[in-house]
Amino acid sequence: MADKLRLMTVHAHPDDESSKGAATLARYVAEGNDVMVVTCTGGERGSILNPAMDKPGVLERMSEIRIEEMAKAAHILGVQHHWLGFVDSGLPEGDPLPPLPEGCFALVPLEESTEALVRLIRDFRPHVLVTYDENGGYPHPDHIRTHEVSVAAFDAAGDPERFTEAGVPWQPLKLYYSHGFSRGKLIAFHNAMNERGLESPYDEWLKRWEDDGTDVLDRVTTRVECADYFPIRNQALLAHATQIDPNSRWFAVTDEIQREVWPTEEYELARSLVDTTVPEDDLFAGVREKVAA
Ligand SMILES: [Zn+2]
Repeated sequence: MADKLRLMTVHAHPDDESSKGAATLARYVAEGNDVMVVTCTGGERGSILNPAMDKPGVLERMSEIRIEEMAKAAHILGVQHHWLGFVDSGLPEGDPLPPLPEGCFALVPLEESTEALVRLIRDFRPHVLVTYDENGGYPHPDHIRTHEVSVAAFDAAGDPERFTEAGVPWQPLKLYYSHGFSRGKLIAFHNAMNERGLESPYDEWLKRWEDDGTDVLDRVTTRVECADYFPIRNQALLAHATQIDPNSRWFAVTDEIQREVWPTEEYELARSLVDTTVPEDDLFAGVREKVAA
């Protein structure tokens, strides 16, 4: 029997896996592949972003609650899940920015966090690795660090001379950056809502978003059709009850409108050790052929 295909996606905090590329994960699981989500930090410094969860005791138990929420989301998506075991750096705010808290993920030496991810890669043996681009998708120090760690681990995992104590070398074949929030996608949803006489949740956001003529969409090489899995993605998001308000703009555009206007999730092929032609519609393009051979 052919080897199963394996996808690993590396995220900064619990809930990032559900807000960036979750429908893609659910689709690959439904198609019989093994999918693992790695979360670099525990999200301990998250605040309560859902008013319904703003009740006594919640903030005090945040680390514990986020572990429970993550387990629930992983179950809904059908993925395996591993914590990398580092501590949330928090989003520094103010002018000047305060220093990052001691011992947080963004301050851990890159060699140390890379070794932890290399160990997981060598154990799970993914064919494809997915992470954020060099800007982190959004400028949180943990997201930028997640990118750095993932790229370093992609390069080191197959090298028998690196991290010799961290398992048998395994080289993933492709590395992707996920591009969830593009200006183009927001505008498409904004227009679709207006055309239907509905209130666009993106009016303010688009006004604030300076148009410098560039869009991450220009970097996209790969669009994965996954509209059938939008309802599962929503359930996974809602499992992160402290972070996701059911009345927020996450859910303002119905699945039906999303399916009509934008039925895909977008990725950028950053490295490939297999032959493939872009644009692609499958993260395993070129890998299927190689693994089956
Ligand atoms: Zn995050």
